[in-house]
Amino acid sequence: MTVRVRFAPSPTGFLHVGGVRTALYNWLFARHHGGVTVLRIEDTDTERETEGAIEQIQRSLDWLGLDFDESPRTGGPHGPYLQSERAETYQAAVDQLLEQGLAYRCYQTPEELEAARTAARHTDDPAAPTRLHRDLTSEQISRFEGEGRPAIIRFRTPLEGETVVEDLVRGRIAFEHRLLGDTVLMRGGGAPTYQLANPLDDMAMGITHVIRGEDLLPSTPRQKLLIEALGGRFPTTAHLSMILGPDKKRLSKRHGAASVEEFREQGYLPHALVNFLALLGWSWDGETEIMSIDELIERFSLERVNPAPAVFDHQKLAWMNGAYLRELAVDDYAAGLDAHLIDAASPLAGNPRLGELVPMVQEKLGAFGEFDALAGSLLVDREPDPVAWDKLKADENAPKVLDATITMLGAISAFSPEAIEGSLRSICDLLDLKPKHAFTPIRIAITGSTVAPGLYESIAFLGRDESLARLQRARAAV
Ligand code: GLU
Repeated sequence: MTVRVRFAPSPTGFLHVGGVRTALYNWLFARHHGGVTVLRIEDTDTERETEGAIEQIQRSLDWLGLDFDESPRTGGPHGPYLQSERAETYQAAVDQLLEQGLAYRCYQTPEELEAARTAARHTDDPAAPTRLHRDLTSEQISRFEGEGRPAIIRFRTPLEGETVVEDLVRGRIAFEHRLLGDTVLMRGGGAPTYQLANPLDDMAMGITHVIRGEDLLPSTPRQKLLIEALGGRFPTTAHLSMILGPDKKRLSKRHGAASVEEFREQGYLPHALVNFLALLGWSWDGETEIMSIDELIERFSLERVNPAPAVFDHQKLAWMNGAYLRELAVDDYAAGLDAHLIDAASPLAGNPRLGELVPMVQEKLGAFGEFDALAGSLLVDREPDPVAWDKLKADENAPKVLDATITMLGAISAFSPEAIEGSLRSICDLLDLKPKHAFTPIRIAITGSTVAPGLYESIAFLGRDESLARLQRARAAV
């Protein structure tokens, strides 16, 4: 049997950490087994859909390198892969279910349902309100039809027994039918619900394994019952735990970046993010952290997915990304940095001297997004940071330090980091200042901020003329 998995996002916004981890586990599982990945867009709920979300999701998946063998973009033998284009399939299934008495028309108004729900809340059959139109007489049906009430379609859930799911992550789970109630398959206007479209598509697309978030666990018995009623075979499931923030509350914007797009903007490497996400609820040997994509594919198994909630640790991601960045060859680093700058529409993109800066920044950056603040002013002369500039003006040592620096740097013969270091250190001796105090005004003069990727290297990088010009400008300001 060929493994076939699907990632089935609803286009309601950006791809978030939880969703992308689901996509990744599906992808790793399929690639490990030489299987097929399907991307299916669940866009039946047009009210919750957001403009451009499908393109966003596809863009994020592309950036991470998660390719899908069948998708709205690539097509495939089981298309269309947009649920909004599959209405006929859903209608045909409903017709069949109605014909066989496995589903029925329900004329309840939302108000009637709500009132029945309230009344049933504390009884021993809380799902009873969903079954009130299960066995209408033909007189009742004609009366409701005569009143012009729209019908919704409900599934005739067995009243007794239970549905058992052997979940690969959570083990055996039994769901009592009596508590499920009669699932809504189609809304009044004939629009399919998630509970109809999702399992039908899994069946039609030959999905063998459903890997998704555990928030969808309550839907599982409903979907299994439906597929089996239609003579299909329910896929094996693996429900992934929730992702929490460090405060053990469900991960959200409050905890910092939470969408792939944001991590991309901050200059994370896609591979570092993939590696980090893979470890969010799965481990290989409980120890190894850094793994290549090929290693992840080879080692991934659902058996080692942890059913306990995973905690998203931004610091660990930053550490991991930094570890990846430090490993890159200089050329790859420069290319990655430039790609990030292009992506961010930064004026530093394409700068021919970018590569020269790599040895100065590679050890220091946790993500490419930090580059501009640390070293951008070495590539373009720009307005100094006002806070740093005020600090410079308030520094009583600044005039004499800057004067001495201008003289010394004007006089040295070789303008190398070593020679510059020697000069600056002699200024400390001359003025009897600690380097910490002497170098602050110089750093602000050179970079316009309180940070520099290395003061001597920065001055050497700028060259004598530009360094002296910046020092003189600062001198004039103090
Ligand atoms: N479309 C559903 C969602 O985005 C996922 C459905 C599923 O994986 O079964 O929540």
